[in-house]
Amino acid sequence: MAVSPTIFDGHNDVLSKLYRAGGQKVAETFLSGREGAIDVPSARNGGFGGGFFAAYVPSPVDIDFKMEEMAKPAYDLPLPDPIDWEDAFPVIMAQAAILFDLESRGALKVCRSMRDIQATLQAGQMAAIFHIEGAEAIDPELHTLEVLYQAGLRSIGPVWSRPTIFGHGVPFRYPSSPDTGNGLTDHGLRLVRRCDELGIMVDLSHLNEAGFWDVARHSTKPLVATHSSAHAICPHSRNLTDRQLAAIRDSDGMVGLNFAVAFLRDDGRMLADVPLEQMLRHLDHLITHLGEDRVGFGSDYDGAIVPEVLTSCASLPALRLAMAKHGYNDALMTKLCHGNWLRVLEKTWGT
Ligand SMILES: [Zn+2]
Repeated sequence: MAVSPTIFDGHNDVLSKLYRAGGQKVAETFLSGREGAIDVPSARNGGFGGGFFAAYVPSPVDIDFKMEEMAKPAYDLPLPDPIDWEDAFPVIMAQAAILFDLESRGALKVCRSMRDIQATLQAGQMAAIFHIEGAEAIDPELHTLEVLYQAGLRSIGPVWSRPTIFGHGVPFRYPSSPDTGNGLTDHGLRLVRRCDELGIMVDLSHLNEAGFWDVARHSTKPLVATHSSAHAICPHSRNLTDRQLAAIRDSDGMVGLNFAVAFLRDDGRMLADVPLEQMLRHLDHLITHLGEDRVGFGSDYDGAIVPEVLTSCASLPALRLAMAKHGYNDALMTKLCHGNWLRVLEKTWGT
């Protein structure tokens, strides 16, 4: 089955998975093969070219409880407590160290520019963008942002679904509008401004609707949601309404379709029996509202329950096959698989 076009992806959580499994001690499994969605052999077998690698500070919520709640027909999980800078910073440093360790072992290349990404993909290597999901590790003076930028940070979500000094985040709630509370704080607006100046992409995916519009009003860059799906199909608080999609289109930004089943299913339940046709419905909707140049993938691999037909990046050929059968031509396939991500990153970072 087809391993091309290469899929360059908007979001994965393999760094926090490796961190929880033992950090640098288990990094070798990323090269040899591991229980999980992403590793070097699966990437090769599935034509996975890399993408955004998130560093993320886990909340001390019981993940089994969360998954159980989200399997119900309706749910409303409270936002977890904020995490202090002192607690968050060492965790982000540890996950960044895993990323650089993977690079030194030859598993991937940490890409800081469009030229890096193009050269890495051309060489058939995994291209990684250092992303932070939730800015707890950034101090209010933004000193850590400056240093992390120099280290290679090129993308940031001001919040995960949890409050920070920068904003409030969207809770996991179904059914629900994404309009769930206050948006960005003054610190958040300063963060967005500085990210624009430096060339760090601001990710909208875990912002609530007020935060989304705050970024839309204050950022000079294309609006990007790295891993979100269509609210018109699955009315989940984490998904994007058609009005939000219109703003993304007008800014010439993009959306990476999230594979997490709770954001794909009409009923919003965290149950894995989701056919590929359901993903195509989201893709069709996103293409209708955003245009062919503004849609890609944001798998959430190693961070979410995904359709049982797509459990790891080795299964990506099945997705390509379904898209081809659905009538997407070669040019569109290339755009969706990686072309649009490269286009938007170039606009955001510059050449
Ligand atoms: Zn996420």
